[in-house]
Amino acid sequence: MRFVRICRLLSARSASLALPRHEKTIRRSMASDPSTGEPTRFDFLVIGGGSGGLAGARRAAELGAKTAVIENHKLGGTCVNVGCVPKKVMWNAAVHAEYLHDHSDYGFDVENVRFSWETLKAKRDAYVSHLNRIYRNNLDKAKIQTIHGHATFTNDPEPTVEVNGRKYTAPHILIATGGQPSVLSDAEVPGAHLGITSDGFFELERLPKRSVIVGAGYIAVEMAGILSTLGSKTSLVIRQTGVLRNFDAFISTNCTKELQNTGVDLWKNSQVTSVSKKDSGLEVTIVTKDPEKKNDEEKISTIQEVDCLLWAIGRQPNTSGLNLTELGVDTDERGHIVVDEFQNTSRSGIYAVGDVCGKALLTPVAIAAGRKLAHRLFENKKDSKLDYSSIPTVVFSHPPIGTVGLTEEEAVKLKGKENVKIYKTSFTPMYYALTTRKSPCIMKLVCVGKEETVMGLHMQGLGCDEMLQGFAVAIKMGATKADFDRTVAIHPTSSEEFVTMR
Ligand SMILES: Cc1cc2nc3c(=O)[nH]c(=O)nc-3n(C[C@H](O)[C@H](O)[C@H](O)COP(=O)(O)OP(=O)(O)OC[C@H]3O[C@@H](n4cnc5c(N)ncnc54)[C@H](O)[C@@H]3O)c2cc1C
Repeated sequence: MRFVRICRLLSARSASLALPRHEKTIRRSMASDPSTGEPTRFDFLVIGGGSGGLAGARRAAELGAKTAVIENHKLGGTCVNVGCVPKKVMWNAAVHAEYLHDHSDYGFDVENVRFSWETLKAKRDAYVSHLNRIYRNNLDKAKIQTIHGHATFTNDPEPTVEVNGRKYTAPHILIATGGQPSVLSDAEVPGAHLGITSDGFFELERLPKRSVIVGAGYIAVEMAGILSTLGSKTSLVIRQTGVLRNFDAFISTNCTKELQNTGVDLWKNSQVTSVSKKDSGLEVTIVTKDPEKKNDEEKISTIQEVDCLLWAIGRQPNTSGLNLTELGVDTDERGHIVVDEFQNTSRSGIYAVGDVCGKALLTPVAIAAGRKLAHRLFENKKDSKLDYSSIPTVVFSHPPIGTVGLTEEEAVKLKGKENVKIYKTSFTPMYYALTTRKSPCIMKLVCVGKEETVMGLHMQGLGCDEMLQGFAVAIKMGATKADFDRTVAIHPTSSEEFVTMR
């Protein structure tokens, strides 16, 4: 499927008008002289003020490099403005809503509880703005120059970046431009533009009454969970039979079931074929085709009165406007920048980290890669690079998922079935002993070899989000099943199951 990009670039004029007075002064004194075309020189030039770019820039400045960060939108990038941070606030709110169902079981009288999306959004936005200011102050304190505007590489022989007609260069240039949500064109799905993406989710002024989410990845699962739990009637449209298909099958199956248990209306084997606007809201037409059924029968259905259609169908890298081909920086067929294990691109002196590289799209990955690079370039630590193995990740579903290392399928493929031993359990956490609402906790250990080295750990259940980090340390250190067994359990918790599995 061909995707088109959402353009979210600020015009040069509005970006410049938005600058505080002191910053305009800095820019005048430090910027290149357009009449001579001479670029302003730094030791380290970073394109993108998101997780990876800011982390790399700050570490480089600490190590003494004269550094600048170019950002065309808001400092903090995806994570702070339209990703992890506002998402977690919304998930926290949804967890409150879930617990309300249990309050009477625990003896609380909670009549007349009302929820205000408007209050939540105002407080969330204020928090995000506060973070934007902190990022700005941190750059100023570190004496890193912030340049506002869209960066493009010029065709000069020396790698040079142009922003608002001014040129900048450095012997080391980092591309950390991240990504953006993929969308469908109206040619692919008529009326597709009537939907929003995860970016638009954070602009919603009120809780939608009727939501349709399209996608099976973690963003789709999280958004469907938040909307449904907060009270929007929510449908999730997926092309196959389960969500999170690249996770361990144990998790994928359980998460699919849990979405339904928590009231999400799941449309399996389905695709949106058109969207139209009616007086009562959007009408979303869906085609469902069960591949198991031989007769090729297609069912066409519509969901009416939809006030939030959200495409969560993947992300694409922000590389198209950078002039990379001319520069000699290779990209893959989806536009991701190709890097080696040291984050070097195909052009010497140009590096890339984070989502723009298309590998492990997570904030701590971008941060760690940016910092490691700074140590290599400015502290002469030649071997400084990020180890991309066993990266832990949490999905803020209901209940949350924690996962690290190999899935069972990956382990079998890599090591052979006879060398893989699986331990798993499923139980109802004690929290639910008193409640009418129940939600299981599932856990799995993927162990490899005679030593039974724990190479994968997967779980979904109450508290799994906060449970994972410590286990990830153990796995990174090469813990075996015997090490787990030697550890005394903490009782009564769910996590104790991991050290008592047989
Ligand atoms: C809804 C959602 C939820 C998420 N939840 C989590 C989570 O819970 N945990 C987690 O670890 N990760 C999460 N992520 C992923 C995380 O946000 C990203 O992995 C992370 O932000 C990547 O950092 P980055 O530095 O590569 O890019 P970004 O943070 O996207 O930063 C790139 C920056 O570059 C700027 N830019 C782009 N092009 C140019 C240009 N030409 N000139 C100047 N500036 C430019 C952009 O405006 C942006 O600010 C989530 C993402 C989304 C969308």
